[in-house]
Amino acid sequence: MLFPQRIVSVLLPQPLPEPFDYLLPDGLEASPGDFVVVPLGPRELIGVVWAVKAGPPSRPLKAVIETIPAAPNLPEATRTFIDRASKYVCTPPGNLLAMTMRSREALEDAPTERLVVASGEAPGRLTPAREKVLAEAGAPVAPADLARAAGVSSGVVKGLVDAGALTIVERTLDPPFELPDADRTGKPLTADQQAAAAMLSDFVRERAYRPALLDGITGSGKTEVYFEAIAAALRDDPEAQVLVLLPEIALTQAVMQRFEDRFGAVPAEWHSAAGSKARRRAWREVAAGRARIVVGARSALFLPFHNLRLIVVDEEHDGSYKQEEGVIYQARDLAVLRAHIGACPVILASATPSLETLANAKSGRYAHLKLKARPGTARLPDILLADMRLHPPEKDRWISPPLVAAMEETLAAGEQTLLYLNRRGYAPLVLCKACGERLKAPDTNSWLTEHRYSGMLVCHLTGFTMRKPSHCPSCGAEGSLAGVGPGVERLAEETRQRFPSARVEVFSSDTASTPEALLDLVTRMEEGAIDILIGTQIAAKGHNFPKLTLVGAIDADSGLKGGDLRAGERTFQLLQQVAGRAGRADRPGRAMIQTYSPESPAIALLAAGDRDAFMESELESRELMGFPPFGRLGSVILAAGSSEQADEWARAFGAAQPNASGVEVWGPAPAPITVLRGRHRRRFLVRSERNVDLSAFLSAWKSRVKLPPSVRVALDVEPYSFM
Ligand code: ADP
Repeated sequence: MLFPQRIVSVLLPQPLPEPFDYLLPDGLEASPGDFVVVPLGPRELIGVVWAVKAGPPSRPLKAVIETIPAAPNLPEATRTFIDRASKYVCTPPGNLLAMTMRSREALEDAPTERLVVASGEAPGRLTPAREKVLAEAGAPVAPADLARAAGVSSGVVKGLVDAGALTIVERTLDPPFELPDADRTGKPLTADQQAAAAMLSDFVRERAYRPALLDGITGSGKTEVYFEAIAAALRDDPEAQVLVLLPEIALTQAVMQRFEDRFGAVPAEWHSAAGSKARRRAWREVAAGRARIVVGARSALFLPFHNLRLIVVDEEHDGSYKQEEGVIYQARDLAVLRAHIGACPVILASATPSLETLANAKSGRYAHLKLKARPGTARLPDILLADMRLHPPEKDRWISPPLVAAMEETLAAGEQTLLYLNRRGYAPLVLCKACGERLKAPDTNSWLTEHRYSGMLVCHLTGFTMRKPSHCPSCGAEGSLAGVGPGVERLAEETRQRFPSARVEVFSSDTASTPEALLDLVTRMEEGAIDILIGTQIAAKGHNFPKLTLVGAIDADSGLKGGDLRAGERTFQLLQQVAGRAGRADRPGRAMIQTYSPESPAIALLAAGDRDAFMESELESRELMGFPPFGRLGSVILAAGSSEQADEWARAFGAAQPNASGVEVWGPAPAPITVLRGRHRRRFLVRSERNVDLSAFLSAWKSRVKLPPSVRVALDVEPYSFM
């Protein structure tokens, strides 16, 4: 007898190359997108039905154990996104599904809590204790809280429930998000802003894939403009969902508040620091289509949106969109892919767009919307260069005389200064004055940074931490270890010496390590309780400090030294961004850039305020080299337990390259960080013509070599880190 057997292909959130087939037993129903439990070896795992096929199978199959009725269906667009993103980033689809399934609890029945509320009926017997409880019982409240409020034991509350005077009500712990109101009026827009908003709103109503670069100087009102596009999406389709991606450190209370002010409702928030409860609620509400506006960090792309009508990537140039650990991906690129799959517009917003995005806008693949001015009287700061060869600071000091003079003037005017130095801690290097030894992390090829506030030496790559030793670990000399070079803590020390009466604070991930500490610093800066703020990148982004009129960039050249593909671009973007902090409100601002290479294009064109010329010169040099966006780039990092093993397998890997035209491979070479967490690293760089499917090439290459489990290989498409 031949019954038609039903087979389902199930994708598991595991590093497996493809979905596995299972039998669907009689009595169970499942369609693509349903969550099911299946056996894998000795384990039972939750996976997602990827396809349903008719039998008979070509080999004996295990059966699906159960379906999960409480779980929503994973929408087709999300499944397609996982498949296509998986190919693009050379990562098994199961690894991407694992990112979609970041909240396991969201698949279970929604948790509820039991509350009590007065029923209006009289209890049989009224004791003084019972009276107290009934006097307190108003809105639904947890029984324990009610007992506490009335100052009685919980038995009294229970007795009133039994007597019928209190009723139990169940309430979900994951209430839906409030619905945004598209019709609240925003700021009256300037003509430029209006034109951009109108075009983006048209795109939204077209319900088609429409990428757009929203290119406007800092403070020109890009946020106000994309708010209009969000409102248009909500008006056009009351069920529309909108995703706004922000760099993780820009996801502050202040930003959420702006959304709330504009739409009258707090949006759903998604980021790595959110607790599991908040994640469960956001995930479930997104899947149910009830969360309309989602504001999140890069991983929010993997949420199961049903009806995504618009994606915004704010600060699209930001390097933190590139995830470098685990699944290596560039969220901006994947956002464009997601918009393509969802047939919706994607707005890439930036004051300093990435070269890739600018090239796409130039070629007409992306619409290019420009905001040239700041609304009202606010204007961009003047950018001045302090040539450190002509105006060097004194020995062991880092602030040059022209900047000191500017700081004096600013202080005298009762205004604020931001000194920008992208180095945490006190000193980036610790050296023995007796033997010259530089202190390194034990298992990583990187210098240790001295942190004075905590008294620790820290490896910023791996987080390795140790107390600062009293003796040199190499020669044993006592008290010979000295920090070399400046970090923000040391710069604060110098600033306090120079300006003893000024209120000086350090703003870095060490001093603003919690949301509360961050909010406190930002608030005090906004209120004028700080005169001089000394900050790393964390201070450079997003904040609006009305009394800040002077920005000093201490070591503007440091970013240029890395020498990688984007060194100039990144330096330009960061400096422009940090300079843009000055003079936001009605006070004119200025920025002073300390540099030893005022003639380098990034610095000279920044001072000239000519971003377009800088980007043109960068584009030309990339075109000459055939680098992105004119060609493709990939990297392969092999990591092994010993140097010999790394060399041996790097050679074997190199020998297994597939033949392909239009592809060049360089390497293997030791990676600049040769040892990381005890693993020895070798690197290949791969360049191809634009029309080559470089992802397919890299995946094919990897599949040709059977590496031992102790050797790991990481493929990176469009690498940002060359370390
Ligand atoms: P961007 O995102 O380009 O940096 P924002 O949207 O944050 O700019 O705007 C900068 C500041 O200017 C904000 O405080 C914003 O509320 C204000 N602003 C923007 N557009 C207008 C406008 N048309 N009228 C009044 N204020 C505006």
